[in-house]
Amino acid sequence: METNYQELWNKTKEALSRCYDEDTFSGTFEEVKKVIKFQNGTIFVLAPNVYIKTKLYNMYSEKINDVLKTLTPEKLKFKFVTESEITKEVPTSLPSTNRLYLNNLNENFNFESFVVGESNMFGYRMSMNVAEQPGLIANPLYIFGGVGLGKTHLMQAIGNYILDKDINKKILYVQANDFIVDYSKATQSGNMLDFDEKYGNLDCLLVDDIQMLEIGKKSQQEFFKLFNDLINRKKQIVITSDCPANQLKGIMERLTSRFSSGMTVDIKQPDLEQRVNILRRKALELSTKKVPDEVLSFIAENFTDNIRELEGALNRVLGHSEVCNYDDITLERAADALEALLRYKKTAPKSSENYENVLSIIANFYNISVNDLISNQRKQAYVLPRHIAMYILKEHFKLPYKKIGQILGNRDHTTIMSGCTKIENEIKTDRELKMAVDTIIKKVD
Ligand code: ADP
Ligand code: MG
Repeated sequence: METNYQELWNKTKEALSRCYDEDTFSGTFEEVKKVIKFQNGTIFVLAPNVYIKTKLYNMYSEKINDVLKTLTPEKLKFKFVTESEITKEVPTSLPSTNRLYLNNLNENFNFESFVVGESNMFGYRMSMNVAEQPGLIANPLYIFGGVGLGKTHLMQAIGNYILDKDINKKILYVQANDFIVDYSKATQSGNMLDFDEKYGNLDCLLVDDIQMLEIGKKSQQEFFKLFNDLINRKKQIVITSDCPANQLKGIMERLTSRFSSGMTVDIKQPDLEQRVNILRRKALELSTKKVPDEVLSFIAENFTDNIRELEGALNRVLGHSEVCNYDDITLERAADALEALLRYKKTAPKSSENYENVLSIIANFYNISVNDLISNQRKQAYVLPRHIAMYILKEHFKLPYKKIGQILGNRDHTTIMSGCTKIENEIKTDRELKMAVDTIIKKVD
């Protein structure tokens, strides 16, 4: 058995050597030799190092698996792993309960699932370097860029990578807003134990959306202490933000100046080609159905602002094919599936009316898409943000229920009313929720 797969890789390599010039081939494929395991249709091949591994994954995996298809009728694919991953990745990966510290990272946010293009190449490379040598080369790493462009993904990829190498590392991901909530809870109750347990002795701290720190002055002092302690102990800090450090408002200067003392990278908007690449990859990950290029282009042309929206649109197309039970995804069907969204984009209020923004701010805050927010899905992860949207549009923008209903995917005005009432009542007792709503309101102003 084993030799068979080895042979298959050898043959694939041979075929690949004919597709690329000598330098490209030897720079990437030469040292990728050994098949180490076969499991569930996946052939694991040893990559000499993590750079080659991710290069293979990001730039060549499609080609490689295309070649493979010409060599065998079986439904197989190659996966590349490095030496250090073998023990964990290949047999059965360790359940997270075996990890010494609980972590709140999303395992799907890793380097392999991150599509690299011009807009994020530098950020990606720096993040990889930081993940390889945490605390040593860029501390803090400060990543900034617009909504839905992959900041959280990249930051968590660093955490996941460090954790994959050493499950005993204590890694904490927090939104800056969580930090404020934790700190004010601790000071109000006079009990710092939970706080210290959570933030003490970290190996790596990932703080998402640092601009939100603006609303907690006392927390900034505390954050300053934490920050210095970690830097002094050469522990990695990664920060994301919607703007460069020197443009952060309402955050004390001794903090912002330290934010820029490590390395700053920015993530830009992906161009059309990259958007298509991202969609192609996501389509492969999400479904076995073939999504034709013209459909990918159609989506990429219509959803241009950010990757979260792009993903949402693709999901919608795939969801449509499930619900309506067809395999042949055509341009017409895709357009059909996206009709409501495209209409929403056209009729949505112009940006001069800043409540348009509110939806993407809320979606971003909860790491979901605007599509999810206005969809009919009842997942808890969507319902709360949706109710918050209703509440803010009502209380803050003073829009009539009917109008809010229209904005939020044509909902009935009674639905909107009950959503508003719910949040209005809950924020009276739920401090965290109140803080979240206040933060969002601050952002939309
Ligand atoms: P941000 O934090 O900048 O608002 P996220 O990191 O939450 O954006 O990204 C939004 C969505 O887009 C996530 O589902 C993420 O996985 C996806 N995404 C972003 N950038 C990429 C990329 N380069 N490759 C693949 N998926 C991406
Ligand atoms: Mg984010």
